[in-house]
Amino acid sequence: MNVGFIGLGAMGLPMAMNVIKGGYDVYTMVHSNRSPGEQLQALGARLCSAPSEIAAQCEVIITVLPADRELDAVVLGENGLLESMRAGSVLIDMTTAKGSTLQALAKELEAREVRVIDAPVSGGTTAAASGQLTLILGGDQALIEAHKPLLETMGKKLFHCGEVGAGKTVKMVNQQIAAINVLAIGEAFALGKKAGADPQVIYQVLKESSGYTRMMDLRIPGFLAEDRFEPGFKLDLMKKDVNLAVEMAMELNTPLTLGSAASQIFAAASSSGLGEKDFAAAAAYLASTAGENLKF
Ligand code: NDP
Repeated sequence: MNVGFIGLGAMGLPMAMNVIKGGYDVYTMVHSNRSPGEQLQALGARLCSAPSEIAAQCEVIITVLPADRELDAVVLGENGLLESMRAGSVLIDMTTAKGSTLQALAKELEAREVRVIDAPVSGGTTAAASGQLTLILGGDQALIEAHKPLLETMGKKLFHCGEVGAGKTVKMVNQQIAAINVLAIGEAFALGKKAGADPQVIYQVLKESSGYTRMMDLRIPGFLAEDRFEPGFKLDLMKKDVNLAVEMAMELNTPLTLGSAASQIFAAASSSGLGEKDFAAAAAYLASTAGENLKF
């Protein structure tokens, strides 16, 4: 089966490699950075010049783009997917974006007899490389079932959350909690350190205590403990995810007290120049406002 793959970043490149390993013929494109496209080409992928050229050759197109704006551009823009996706083909969108954005695109695509699977992911770059992502799915159950072998090249934990858009909503909830947790680590560990506790000891104790969050294992070793912030998951992408939740809360007239505070802290960290760093840098930024560094 010919599979188009658009968005070859920290997540998309290893995911596309796993699709190739799964035996699919992959068609992709270079956006601004040539290297990921060339790495895939070396594994047998064909390089096309635009989404429309990919769409003309493929039964399934996978998108893993930064956010809503890029997703809209790839589908509806000049030389976009809509220009040449074939009747009966399928778009699997794995971007973390608003559910309503994908629902609007699905309507446009339906007119062309193209169906859509909503499939944001969780697990980060390590799970992307090992093909062990969690896939948070929305869309027709039978359509998802039919594409399970392809989806399982990228992730083994598949959850069907409802209609197109429902996957994005569940992913947004995960991101809000993940963002708040990483900031809580930054703030609370800084206080503990200032009061004289060793951050390494705090981590060891909390691993066996009620304040434990998996975010500690995901972002203390290799990031906060070493004061190193190579992404990983870029701070500006997490800022985008927190803001998706804030915007949705406004639309639904729902308070989002902790999410709004997280949004402000991510905005401050981003505007202080940390946007391209891993999102754990927001916790370090918060600790720095207390004059502390969480390195140990
Ligand atoms: P990156 O910023 O690393 O990659 C984004 C990719 O999209 C780049 O290859 C970029 O190309 C490409 N791109 C941007 N605009 C276009 C366009 N108009 N046409 C074609 N390609 C385009 O992001 P990630 O891979 O980290 O994240 C991708 C998605 O996955 C996001 O929605 C993110 O929230 C989500 N996610 C990320 C996780 C992580 O740990 N990183 C974990 C779970 C979900 P170029 O660089 O050439 O401009």
